[in-house]
Amino acid sequence: MAVLIDKEKCTACGLCVDACPFAALALKDEVAVVGDGCTMCGACVDACPMGAIAMEKVEKKADERTATSRGVWVWAEQRDGVMPDVVAELLGQGRKLADELGVPLGAALIGYQVEPLAAELIAYGADEVYLLQHPNLAGFDDHAYALALDQLIKTYQPEILLAGATSLGRSLVPRVATLTKSGLTADCTSLAIDPATRLLRQTRPAFGGNIMATIICPQARPQMATVRPRVMRKAEYVASRRGKVVKAEALGALTPLSKVLETHAGAGEQVNLVAAEVVVTGGRGLGKPEGFALVRELALALGGVVGASRAAVDSEWIGYAHQVGQTGRTIGPKLYIALGVSGAVQHLVGMQSSDTIVAINNNPEAPIFQVATYGIVGDLYQVVPAILKKIKEIQG
Ligand code: FAD
Repeated sequence: MAVLIDKEKCTACGLCVDACPFAALALKDEVAVVGDGCTMCGACVDACPMGAIAMEKVEKKADERTATSRGVWVWAEQRDGVMPDVVAELLGQGRKLADELGVPLGAALIGYQVEPLAAELIAYGADEVYLLQHPNLAGFDDHAYALALDQLIKTYQPEILLAGATSLGRSLVPRVATLTKSGLTADCTSLAIDPATRLLRQTRPAFGGNIMATIICPQARPQMATVRPRVMRKAEYVASRRGKVVKAEALGALTPLSKVLETHAGAGEQVNLVAAEVVVTGGRGLGKPEGFALVRELALALGGVVGASRAAVDSEWIGYAHQVGQTGRTIGPKLYIALGVSGAVQHLVGMQSSDTIVAINNNPEAPIFQVATYGIVGDLYQVVPAILKKIKEIQG
């Protein structure tokens, strides 16, 4: 886009200069001129009474692959031959997208001696597995893996590529977006196909989670999105499913840029929120750090683990390892119990895919009740002891 000023029509009235919120316009030699600070906001166009200012739209030419690319792919992340659950979750979502588009669902499997994983990918729904193996891909190196994935994409041209927003995915996929000159929407919370245009509608929280933005990528391929673990539901594993394995040879040396000497497990408090089937979360409504004793008691009684809202973590009532939400963990347990949590959007994006959500809150208007399967309006310090009493009775 560019701002165009018609010198013949401009009367140097100065109204555009006054209207510009960025002080980017000035009068020079009896005509308005645009300076560096212009943000193309268009305020000057509206302000000009002579119709002397216009915005020139420069049409971006669509990448020629937009017409030829076909298929939905999932990057089959693996570490030492083990795939995280997010791969099966993305295959579940990828299946829906591929069916809507009427195209095959593919998986891009990169590594060394990882061929046995192809059967697992097919069992989770992949119609085709694109396999690229090389000794230089034995350990994860984002540079070498990006070159390999870029090669597969350029050869087989999928229209969509999904990857987990894991530490490996976050490191790899932006590099692939750069190599393929495509776009990338990180941390999507929902994905859908626009039936009119066949474009992928990629929805994610924006502006600190205050709005949900839906992003499209009309001019480049593949359309790329990452999704955090546990946001989507896992595809069903059907061992008898059949699919095709397409083996590709590496076209380059795929030389890694780094050499891993040793690996160490992270230090600090470890809470396996992501793997837990039951999570009991405490929020600011607990009112005091000691309130977490009650949260722990309920979690223990149900064989679960303790989660926390950011407000509770920021108040230093409990460690960050327990935080659920946009800047904490994204989880989808079978049972999620929220105690004194209001249900801010940044919290909801981290837990709303839970199978059953129970909310206990003394405010009947709390937004958490909009996503809750069961809601109890009341003081958590009365409700939780009553629930614990009942559990103890049942457990004898
Ligand atoms: P509050 O909103 O204060 O809610 C407390 C609730 O407890 C209220 O609904 C109240 O009615 C209820 N209550 C009070 N007393 C009782 C009682 N005795 N019994 C029952 N109910 C009671 N938040 C997250 O949780 N996770 C994130 O990852 C996260 N990331 C963020 C990222 C960004 C960029 C931003 C801007 C914010 C983020 N937040 C996150 C913060 C989020 O916006 C909220 O401020 C936070 O979730 C509120 O926590 P809360 O529900 O515990 O507290």
